[in-house]
Amino acid sequence: MEFRKEVEFSKVLLPNGSIEENRIEIRYDPLTLQTSRVIKKTPPIPEIQGFDEEIESSKAWCPFCPERIESMVARDPDLLKGELLRKGEAILFSNIVPYSKYSFVIRMTDAHYLDLNEFKREHFENSLFLIQDVLSKLNEGKYYISIGMNYLKPAGSSIMHPHIQTLVSETSTDYFARMDWSALEFYEERRKDFWKVLLEKEKEIGKRYVGETEKTMWLSAFAPKGFYHFVGIPEEREFLAMTEEQISGISEGLIKILKFYQSKGFNSFNISMFLADRLGEHFRTNVHVVARTPFDKYYWCDVYFPKMFHDETISYLVPEEYAPELAEFMKT
Ligand SMILES: [Zn+2]
Repeated sequence: MEFRKEVEFSKVLLPNGSIEENRIEIRYDPLTLQTSRVIKKTPPIPEIQGFDEEIESSKAWCPFCPERIESMVARDPDLLKGELLRKGEAILFSNIVPYSKYSFVIRMTDAHYLDLNEFKREHFENSLFLIQDVLSKLNEGKYYISIGMNYLKPAGSSIMHPHIQTLVSETSTDYFARMDWSALEFYEERRKDFWKVLLEKEKEIGKRYVGETEKTMWLSAFAPKGFYHFVGIPEEREFLAMTEEQISGISEGLIKILKFYQSKGFNSFNISMFLADRLGEHFRTNVHVVARTPFDKYYWCDVYFPKMFHDETISYLVPEEYAPELAEFMKT
């Protein structure tokens, strides 16, 4: 395992006449070798302009608010026979726009909007318990299963109301596949899973080791995929077999990270958990969190061309279906 990087220096002549030298580190992800650029200079971030108006106006039509959820959400006709799953404030249903064979949404809270320091451990725990519940009903077979969350518009969320999702697909996403085959290669050489070794190494180095919650260790990612990218590594490898303590430890870590984001003036984030279930001994469930540019009236998007063209894109339309439509236009 290597923490490899290249360094470039870039000089700029500032308007005040001084020359500034900037250091740019191009870091290789120790598992997938994907590169990230780390620049030690923060562009000025404008003060957040309130968005109370957005909270109120989105509440008026929100399908996840308690008064509408029963009548507005899509249900799973197969595994759940049209039922909703509930635990505490969490409610599980089908994504009306599925990305995969099974695509579930878990509405986490009764509240339509939460500041990051208002998220509670139970919000995550209950949601994760519901995901365990639905996954336990899956048939045999190979699936790539992930859990993800977008919070607020900068993170890509179309609905403000806190919700988490789970995707169950027969085919992996691009990045999940990279992880899977890189982890398999690693395991074949070392007979230990990558994340176990990463932890040992990071604990020894100490610089990126953040600490632990119950049965879960947290690191800051060597080659970050966004602002404040943290990685959680659970002691229990497969998600479906995780004990309450393990789920609790992951949830606790997440709300701590959210509180940290809040303290830094951030309010929007993404989470992704890649599950080891159905993959094999070489893979360990791993949890990722990044902060996104803060949401405000004039927020900017941090997915610009470098990110856009190097990661997985979600398409809501099938190319084979809309290609003939365009073809019709071409004829006219
Ligand atoms: Zn709502």
